[in-house]
Amino acid sequence: MIKGLVPGAEILRWAGDNHTAVGAFNFSNLETLQAVVEASKETNCPTILQVTESAINYLGLEYVVAMISVAVQGAQNRLALHLDHGSNFDVCKRCIDAGFSSVMIDNSLLEFKQNVANTTEVVEYAKKNGVSVEAELGALAGIEDNISVDLQESIYTNPDQAQKFVEDTKIDSLAVAIGTKHGPNKGAPNAPPKLDFERLTRIKMALGGRFPLVLHGASAVDSKLTELCNEHGGNIQNAIGIKDEDVLEAIRRGINKVNIDTDLRLAFLAGLRQSLAKFPDKLDIRKHMGAAREEMNVYAVRKIKLITTPGLG
Ligand SMILES: [Zn+2]
Repeated sequence: MIKGLVPGAEILRWAGDNHTAVGAFNFSNLETLQAVVEASKETNCPTILQVTESAINYLGLEYVVAMISVAVQGAQNRLALHLDHGSNFDVCKRCIDAGFSSVMIDNSLLEFKQNVANTTEVVEYAKKNGVSVEAELGALAGIEDNISVDLQESIYTNPDQAQKFVEDTKIDSLAVAIGTKHGPNKGAPNAPPKLDFERLTRIKMALGGRFPLVLHGASAVDSKLTELCNEHGGNIQNAIGIKDEDVLEAIRRGINKVNIDTDLRLAFLAGLRQSLAKFPDKLDIRKHMGAAREEMNVYAVRKIKLITTPGLG
């Protein structure tokens, strides 16, 4: 494990003990990593830094490791490096071998038995290396109001199945499907998605009331940010996210890790687009990237303060 990191499970245990959640923020280059890691240091909150496979392909795994090694230096708060949505054993193994402190194996689209088998293989390898594992049950479809109960039942996480899945795989945390969705279009325009909170409570209880749960696709998709983007050349349509109060209610009902990617991308692009529009004659890349990093940092601080509020759950 990279020096200075702690296992993801240790951070989630802290969140559970303190009846709260931690933010898990995606990064994809140096500036986005700096924006979130500095936000976590400023707020002094345990935080999970994460990359997807496509971010690793873009950056190169060696660059991810080198940047994180520097980023964690001097941090007083607990930090984990997590693989987000790993698709197979090999990519999880590569990340574990490279020093990540947490990985996600997402085989939620496979049938239950295969998901269990593939997840267990990752857990066995990860445990030997002191690395934590998150997996997923159900599909993050983003549900409109008029969905049938049958369809909802088939794609949302089933509490009994969750109990069996955790028992069979020995994972450290479970990502649940309760109505959130990835990306900036999480529902019909002007109609935020309705989350199935009652299901979330049943999942938490089925797992004994303490097991760490993860909420993906939880960005607010702040209209101020989408408007700033669109006023400066962007074209983001039908943007709708998860309300802050819904994120807090999910934490009260037992979510311990809240994944945020879209919001940070929007903040970064809002900063970048404003700078490019305001200083069209400036060739200094640092001026524009610096403005983007600043906007994202401010937003990340706001998110951490929202999500990590001890005593909520
Ligand atoms: Zn996700």
